[in-house]
Amino acid sequence: AKETGRGRAEYYRKEMDAEREERNKLEIDLRIAIERRELTVLYQPVVEAGTWRLVGLEALCRWDRPGYGYVSPDVFIPIAESTGLIDQLGLFVLHRACETIAAWPELKLAVNISPGQFRDPAFAVHVGSVFRKTGTKPSRVTLEMTEGYFIQNPERARGALAKLRQLGVKIALDDFGAGFSSVGYLRQFGFDRMKIDKSLVHALAEGSRAVDMLHATVSLARSLDIPVTAEGVETKDQAVALKLSGCDELQGYLFGKPMTAQEVDALYRKRSEG
Ligand code: C2E
Ligand code: CA
Ligand code: CA
Ligand code: CA
Repeated sequence: AKETGRGRAEYYRKEMDAEREERNKLEIDLRIAIERRELTVLYQPVVEAGTWRLVGLEALCRWDRPGYGYVSPDVFIPIAESTGLIDQLGLFVLHRACETIAAWPELKLAVNISPGQFRDPAFAVHVGSVFRKTGTKPSRVTLEMTEGYFIQNPERARGALAKLRQLGVKIALDDFGAGFSSVGYLRQFGFDRMKIDKSLVHALAEGSRAVDMLHATVSLARSLDIPVTAEGVETKDQAVALKLSGCDELQGYLFGKPMTAQEVDALYRKRSEG
């Protein structure tokens, strides 16, 4: 029994070493990709809930890791966050997306921001300089953030938000309904928009409890005059239910997957033709 116990411990140790090594390699490759500007940005359409007309885009980062293929942002973003690479990565995405949307003056842009970036006291300054360099009107841009940082560090979050607001950029509370989201935060921090997480949207098919939750959530946001975007919309039924609930914008595979700038261009031209 002693033998197998030791054998097992040895096995787990090796397993953990292998995992750590894989993570280190991933981090090194990610650092290189950021330095060489090899990350790419895709754009997912956001439509008006009533008309399904294209009104905006969400920028989503992609990494084609040499020798491995595409790595999910759910894997590489946490690594970027824990290694401090997120500041550079985040500003790269913002810069690239701002350059790109210059071609589509009628569309808004949403960009995801990690709490780690928010901790940099000069973050707002960096954002402002991206707007200046790319000639972007700040009011076209919404920065999407999850509630985590606001819960952990409300005072500093408030200060950082104030600096961003002075630039004229908008701030959305992302992933609402995915965790312990509280409508209190919406009011307290004065978010400009709420994004309903896809998990809540997908729960709609399961019946009335999810529908009740959705109605309650959206009507609270609306009573605070905060517009609502629902993400992860995959079916017509979901789109109809969300519109009826009072969401004003929708996003999801039903309207378009994250796509290249060329693909957005085609959509944009169709939109202009009516
Ligand atoms: P998110 O901000 O909640 O973005 C929405 C995610 O849902 C995206 O996953 C998008 O591709 C996916 N999605 C969109 N429509 C549908 C749908 O109809 N059905 C389903 N099942 N999924 C849909 P993606 O691109 O893999 O990104 C995952 C997460 O990684 C994002 O979640 C965001 O938190 C993070 N992320 C991506 N790019 C960036 C970035 O540039 N900076 C930061 N900080 N985070 C990023
Ligand atoms: Ca988002
Ligand atoms: Ca989400
Ligand atoms: Ca997210």
